[in-house]
Amino acid sequence: TPVIVWFRNDLRLADNPALHAAASLGAPILPLYVLEEVPGDPRPLGGASRWWLRGSLERLGAACAALGAPLILRRGDPAAILPALIGESGAGAVFWNRRYAPAQTARDAAIKEALKRDGVEARSFNANLLAEPWTVQNKSGGPFKVFTPFWRSLSATLAPPLPLPVPALLPAQRLIAPATPPASDPLESWGLAPTAPDWAGGLRAAWSPGEAAARDALAAFLDGPVARYPTERDRPDQDGTARLSPHLAFGEIGPRQIWHAARHTADAHPDRQTGVESFLREIGWREFNHHLLHHAPHLADQPLDERFAAFPWRDDPAGLAAWTRGRTGYPIVDAGMRQLWETGWMHNRVRMIAASFLVKDLLLPWQTGERWFWDTLVDADLANNAGGWQWTAGCGADAAPFFRIFNPVLQGEKFDPEGDYVRRFVPELRRLPPRWIHKPWDAPPEILRQAGVRLGESYPRPIIDHALARNRALSLFAEQKGR
Ligand code: FAD
Repeated sequence: TPVIVWFRNDLRLADNPALHAAASLGAPILPLYVLEEVPGDPRPLGGASRWWLRGSLERLGAACAALGAPLILRRGDPAAILPALIGESGAGAVFWNRRYAPAQTARDAAIKEALKRDGVEARSFNANLLAEPWTVQNKSGGPFKVFTPFWRSLSATLAPPLPLPVPALLPAQRLIAPATPPASDPLESWGLAPTAPDWAGGLRAAWSPGEAAARDALAAFLDGPVARYPTERDRPDQDGTARLSPHLAFGEIGPRQIWHAARHTADAHPDRQTGVESFLREIGWREFNHHLLHHAPHLADQPLDERFAAFPWRDDPAGLAAWTRGRTGYPIVDAGMRQLWETGWMHNRVRMIAASFLVKDLLLPWQTGERWFWDTLVDADLANNAGGWQWTAGCGADAAPFFRIFNPVLQGEKFDPEGDYVRRFVPELRRLPPRWIHKPWDAPPEILRQAGVRLGESYPRPIIDHALARNRALSLFAEQKGR
């Protein structure tokens, strides 16, 4: 009997354990993707993710079709769609790869139960992590709460299986009772591409979704840039990182493929060894965040450090609007927020600076920033996003302490020393010399005039004084600690 392979955030054919297991049964395969629309879903896909998903599904659909097993696209609640497809096709099993966001795991568990009750085999696999969260424990048998010992322990014992090849598929489409053909291409009718033309244009110019592009991005990075990763990974003005995050978020590539390719690179090129270690450590942070979310599902919405549950965050619609639009008057923050809007991605160092500014300078709740990122990032990933925000806000596991407050000027000067990153995304400042580009309000009037910058007109003055904001945050935090 046919097997349904339910694709979710594992949109690839290579190293896909669910697909591989199904194919090795020798049964006909029904590859399925469901655009999940479930009432009360706490995390519907964000706008940038919807754009990415469309491109990714087009590629996956073409790849499945080339293997003779066209991808079935359905929309709605998988709890209803799966039994319906089983009815249509006579499938006897549903295989999928596990995911880790709390609402999704709950949904999957309920679906598994229901399928089993109906006598349908339901099997799940690990495609998205190096190790399952329940297999990594500290000495007292609990989950790690600090990254360094977590990674030391995991990387010491890690021997991920070799990536699985793309399997040969036996098509099962003809087994589906010929339904009325869809009136239009489902992807077209799903309305996944954002309508704002300039927005989608910026995303298109910056990215190619899909498994092949993911493989190419990894190969290009390991082919050279990885050697400079330890020194350049913090530099938003350099293309020093792998830019794999959206590919990983949609599962177009998996961490085991990355691990093996990186190890192979280090073996073949000893000069890239240090870079590979440092790169894999970041893959380790992704792993850590996913393990944390598994063990503490409330991490998505609530501070892990409970002292922050009652933090007196402010309500500041004007500050929030300035932040989202990249008009705070702090060039590095604005460049980051505009990079996010234009390209759906922001450099990690700048994510930390921009997030720190929202939480500590503007005193807006980290959840507000997390939601904005969720909607605008092409790599939006609940574990990494909530983990990153809680880390910056100082309330997560192994987080930067709240009293470490990023100074946007010093951070800009250190990590974007020539101001090239700011120039790229804040063109109205592009003629300012490096000395002033991160603090235009300090520049002599003559310099501003020559650069064509009119503060308060062509570019905003700082919406808040960082030194004052810092003191305000520190005293609130001190009060909070004393509670
Ligand atoms: P590289 O430096 O090349 O790293 C390779 C991979 O390692 C990344 O693709 C990512 O999967 C992982 N990685 C790297 N840095 C981190 C990190 N600090 N934490 C966890 N994993 C990491 N990452 C997301 O994937 N999705 C998010 O929604 C997300 N939101 C974030 C929000 C905030 C406030 C912060 C501070 C960080 C966030 N990150 C998020 C982590 C990080 O910024 C991105 O993973 C990274 O910038 C992706 O670029 P890259 O692929 O070139 O990274």
